[in-house]
Amino acid sequence: MNRRSGIKNLPAALMALLLAAAVLAGCASPALPGQGHGAEQVYDAEEAQEPDLTDDEEILAEDPGHNRDGEIYPWMDSSLRQVMEYVDEPDAREDFAIYANREWSLSHEIPEGYSSYDMFTERQMEVDREIIALLTDVEDGDAEQLTKKDPALQHDLDLVRTYHELWLDWDGRSERSIRDLQELLAPLQAADSVDALTDFLAQPLTVISVEELASCYVASDLNDAEHYAVYIDPCQVLFGDSMYYRMMDYGDWKYEPYYSELGRFLLTKIGYTDSEAEQALDNCFSFEKDMAPYIMTTEENNAEDATARQNNPRTMLQLAEEAGAFPILEILSAHGFEKADSYIVTEPSWLRAMGRLYNRANLQRMKDYLLVTCLMDYADWLDRDCYEKKAEVLNGINGAEGMIDDATAASHAVDEFLPMQLGRVYTAAYVTDEMKEEVTEIVEMIRGEYRGILEEAPFLSDATKQEALRKLSSLQLRIAKPDVWEDDSGLQITPASEGGSLISAQEEMGTYILQSEQKKLGTEVDRRIWGASPQTVNAFYDPSDNSVTICAGILGGSFYHSGMELEDLLASVGDTVGHEISHAFDSSGRQFDEKGNFHDWWTEEDAEAFRARAQKLVDYYDGIYPFEGVSCSGTLVEAEAIADLVGFKCVLRIAAGQEDFDYKRFFESYAETWHSISTSETEYYLITQDSHPLAYLRINAVVQQFEPFYETYDVQPGDGMYLAPEDRLEVW
Ligand SMILES: [Zn+2]
Repeated sequence: MNRRSGIKNLPAALMALLLAAAVLAGCASPALPGQGHGAEQVYDAEEAQEPDLTDDEEILAEDPGHNRDGEIYPWMDSSLRQVMEYVDEPDAREDFAIYANREWSLSHEIPEGYSSYDMFTERQMEVDREIIALLTDVEDGDAEQLTKKDPALQHDLDLVRTYHELWLDWDGRSERSIRDLQELLAPLQAADSVDALTDFLAQPLTVISVEELASCYVASDLNDAEHYAVYIDPCQVLFGDSMYYRMMDYGDWKYEPYYSELGRFLLTKIGYTDSEAEQALDNCFSFEKDMAPYIMTTEENNAEDATARQNNPRTMLQLAEEAGAFPILEILSAHGFEKADSYIVTEPSWLRAMGRLYNRANLQRMKDYLLVTCLMDYADWLDRDCYEKKAEVLNGINGAEGMIDDATAASHAVDEFLPMQLGRVYTAAYVTDEMKEEVTEIVEMIRGEYRGILEEAPFLSDATKQEALRKLSSLQLRIAKPDVWEDDSGLQITPASEGGSLISAQEEMGTYILQSEQKKLGTEVDRRIWGASPQTVNAFYDPSDNSVTICAGILGGSFYHSGMELEDLLASVGDTVGHEISHAFDSSGRQFDEKGNFHDWWTEEDAEAFRARAQKLVDYYDGIYPFEGVSCSGTLVEAEAIADLVGFKCVLRIAAGQEDFDYKRFFESYAETWHSISTSETEYYLITQDSHPLAYLRINAVVQQFEPFYETYDVQPGDGMYLAPEDRLEVW
């Protein structure tokens, strides 16, 4: 993660939004902001059955596809509006997602500025309205009242409001932003030798405000979860996934025209001629192409062995040897990280490659890579032209239309850069202790049921079972809002009236984050501090401290309210909690112990038995083609798909113990939590980049594994929803 900006590159921004959950294994794929209603496309059934298309774009436009091994697959990606329009008489036995959600889908539109719309977006828009009220103190915010007796809360309210005002200060942005950026970049542009570039990289200001050639940050140690380590990750590549760079010449890259268009626009803004801009972009892409073979792909990052591959502790001496000419020690010094107890290089082959690439011959390409990625990072903070250009380019990539209004966009920026400051204000206004208690009860009910699943697991030896139960008992719960907040009294943001600007605010926030990272080194991890902000519309499992977080943001709207019917409660919050807990035992989470150490507590036989069960699931997803010729990746979705299945199993076990449980209501309420409309561009992106299965699969591929679904809807062999008992998936 980029400390200064929280990842703002175009593709990285997409990646961060889509895959943020992957860090903590969240349950939902957040919607992509900056994108809106997809162009209407007509679904042509004849065309779909006789595909003669080679280009991805054409396939997406004309075939919402459903082909497996040359046969018509029973379901279509019903997040695409044209699929819903195509089906006249939905049948629960043929395609449950269409049956349950067609009416909703046809009566809703993707909002302006978004590329998809679902229950999470619906709830996000409610939270946005609450946040805007707090930031502007109109309507029901009444924020002044809140802060009367709490100076820390008042401090945070001042911070979020100051940043919000700076974001919306378009006059200030036009006047200063380009000039401020040019000043920041001048030392990079002036570097005329490798030594001069090293000097630039070794400046604290570079670490805080400009781009880096290595991503260094502090997080809990994989091998000693109660203490911190310094991690050294590869720098980002513009297209997010290094796979794109390995596949073909960059002139053929699907997204290349979009990035080039924005890159040219921004380079021209800081004074480049067209041909200079072209050259700089060419240099940037070609340098990324040289690094890409040594950077793990999205799929590799989600594979079962990913953490084992990334867990490479090093001493300073080893780092220096491995990095060769690449000045990793100078970069660590610039961060103030030179005296850590533990360093972990997540991708040693990349570090060695940087040692070979860091030379005079590549000087200009490295400089242009840093320049272009930095400009992409800053586009949102510059003048109106740059901001709108970036939104237009993102829309092109995502098939969206229109823009999010300024008030909402500004509130999203506050949420992104001051998450915990906003969180303290938000929870003071909107979160009650009763909500926290109620949801804690639900979580404990699910944990109790999970205990039964572990005890009954037929493939586990007693030794592994006991360890698993211990891990479950040790699970930390973070519900609704934290009890303790990090002391942020050192963070100040200068308002425009005192000479501050949006760019100076980014520098002030970056400095504060870097200093708090430095302070963590040598101390014990404080597990009371949350990693996710409470207003986030999501829930998470974090293997590094064996915790489940259910954020206040998700606890509202149709997802949760006090006094819900049990059927609805189990289908939404209950299932989500079960999903998150089961991440402790999915393909990746099972490799961490009850304290969060990366430590194998499985017997070899048990691990083999688990892998065989998980492999059946991987094969199942590999065989699903949402678009003609484009299959899901079982490896990519393995952990999330396992969590979906176990979460659902958990709530069905509770249902089985109830008298007169309304299964029909339950199944349809569950399907509703995954209702979704989306552009085909977004769906395609999710298939290759999101660790969660697509929404229609989170419905159909889950319910068809469980007998009560067959009984409720009388599903028979030959029906689209039918799966023979021996083919059904059961990892846990
Ligand atoms: Zn998940």
